[in-house]
Amino acid sequence: MSLDAIAAPVADLLPDLVALRRDLHAHPELAFEERRTAGVAAQALRLLGLEVHEGLGGTGVVGTLRCGSGARSVGLRADMDALPMVELGRAAHASRTQGVHHGCGHDGHTSMLIGAARQLARTRRFDGTVHFIFQPAEEGKGGARAMIEDGLFERFPCDSVYALHNWPDLPLGTAQTRAGPIMAAADRFDIVLRGRGGHAAQPHHTPDAILAASQLVAQLHTIVSRRIDPGESAVLSVTRLEGGHSHNVLPAEVSITGTVRSFDLASQDRIEAALRTTVDGVALASGVQAEVRYVRYYPATLNTPEEAALALAAARAVGLQADMAPRAAFTSEDFAFMLQRRPGAYLWLGQGRADPGADGERPLHHPCYDFNDDALPLGVRWLCEVAERALDR
Ligand SMILES: [Zn+2]
Ligand SMILES: [Zn+2]
Repeated sequence: MSLDAIAAPVADLLPDLVALRRDLHAHPELAFEERRTAGVAAQALRLLGLEVHEGLGGTGVVGTLRCGSGARSVGLRADMDALPMVELGRAAHASRTQGVHHGCGHDGHTSMLIGAARQLARTRRFDGTVHFIFQPAEEGKGGARAMIEDGLFERFPCDSVYALHNWPDLPLGTAQTRAGPIMAAADRFDIVLRGRGGHAAQPHHTPDAILAASQLVAQLHTIVSRRIDPGESAVLSVTRLEGGHSHNVLPAEVSITGTVRSFDLASQDRIEAALRTTVDGVALASGVQAEVRYVRYYPATLNTPEEAALALAAARAVGLQADMAPRAAFTSEDFAFMLQRRPGAYLWLGQGRADPGADGERPLHHPCYDFNDDALPLGVRWLCEVAERALDR
């Protein structure tokens, strides 16, 4: 089906949605500071006559639309936050806030969910309740968890929940999802190694924290290759190594930071345990004191099979070329917290341009990234179709 044919049922909504998306792009807000964005969403929902609740989990907003007498309910979720980075794109709607950039397209997600509310409020081809969930702080700060802890699913019961992310790697007009893991669990580790510090020419007087750290970095990289079943996937990356200030002083302290990504709890447990014993072993052999802080900040995003099938069928029904994704991505996503509480599915919505220009399609989090407005009607159609299917129209 042509993109125009997919967009046709919502074509009259598009000029305003594009303007809305660009306005949000020009006024990005960081995690838990999405006051203006939340206000825009809440106002749009109120104008439709929806029941609107603000301030959930900080700046979260939920709008509720009921139709018929059905007892079933579904949650559709969008994230609202931008990234702490400088935008280098030169569009007229480029960020007006220095150092804050909608580099992940959450401006597009928010606009698509507002568009879906507008469409569902006028077509009303469902029997039950739709909760439109606008969450803060997806980028590393767990806004989804904050909303859940604030009673999201008690106050707005959802039989199932759905969300999408724009996906520059997939062409516009396509979509992918999968049953089971679709995004990875994300852990962070911070290790501090302490010697006493001393003269570089007298290494026999102090444990060498620099040498211990060097050995430790190499050892940490054997955990995935030697302790994890080769059939499973995981990543461990050391991303920061800090210590020392001078050429002739052995520093008293060296710190190491990194991330671990995995898809199942068994691998995650095994990696954390192996990391701790590896640190202890290297510390013992080197004579340094070691301290480990290991934080599991996002769980794996796990789609339930039935809802993944519904998400895929909905994508196909509106005319998207949709397939089961052959593999999960190693990036992570805090919609995972919602999927820990409710059945549901997460979809990658293609937005790659046929002609991306000389520099190619900008990936997520790139300083010149800009959400592709041509994906707006596709996301709106998918969200509406999901709600209608989940609520037995
Ligand atoms: Zn992101
Ligand atoms: Zn994102």
